[in-house]
Amino acid sequence: MSGNRRMPVPAIPRIEAPLIELFSSIQGEGVLVGFRQVFIRFADCNLNCDYCDTPFQAQETYRIAKDPASTDFESRPNPANLLEIGELLGDWTRSWPRLHHSLALTGGEPLLHVDVLREWLPTVKSVLPVFLETNGTLPDHLSAVLASIQWVSMDVKLESTSGVPTPWEEHKAFMRCAGEKLCQVKAVIDDSTSGEELTCLAKMMNQHAMGLPLIVQPRTVQSQPALDSTRLLACQATLLDIYPLVRVIPQVHQWLGIA
Ligand code: SF4
Repeated sequence: MSGNRRMPVPAIPRIEAPLIELFSSIQGEGVLVGFRQVFIRFADCNLNCDYCDTPFQAQETYRIAKDPASTDFESRPNPANLLEIGELLGDWTRSWPRLHHSLALTGGEPLLHVDVLREWLPTVKSVLPVFLETNGTLPDHLSAVLASIQWVSMDVKLESTSGVPTPWEEHKAFMRCAGEKLCQVKAVIDDSTSGEELTCLAKMMNQHAMGLPLIVQPRTVQSQPALDSTRLLACQATLLDIYPLVRVIPQVHQWLGIA
């Protein structure tokens, strides 16, 4: 045997996914508004909403905050090694033990990475409880990872604002799948949102999500709501006529000028 033959180097384990960014900030939407979270924004989406304000196409690099107190970012290559991200979350939690309420998985659509999440989430759910933000169209993917998720926040995509036909049947199946993990349903509205859409939404809540808050989020354009107050109040009244738990909550982080 040759004396200089090298021993095989064990492969460094990797669980990979393309990311857009990772940072610490304040939750700006819905029932958890104001809580501090670590946000992991996954690349890729299965929809293409008109009002989308987040670039989700994967790039060669993603950006990552230097620490939870910093607004400085550094670039790292995609796809990200989520095992390293898990170690970083552990470091942040040990160094800032009371800072974060939860780990927000957002996008894009995080559930497109279901195979990766199924492997990775069991390794991080004890570090921070997991809060999933999703467009509510992939119920089969949700069922594969639901055991590792604490809260599911689901968007309903109204055609008037998203520009794509509302996937009502997928949304209903998703609600049934999420069950008691579903903590809220959100819908973006603007001046073009019709009474018929709102009626369908309220009826769906009655049938599949009774007892949960329905969050109406005015579409934000240049940090301002894109419908006047009279119309906003009328939309809420239409929903409340059918479903009792309707709350209007705008995107607070936009006003604060934070990510
Ligand atoms: S589902 Fe979300 S990320 Fe995807 S296109 Fe719509 S707003 Fe953008």
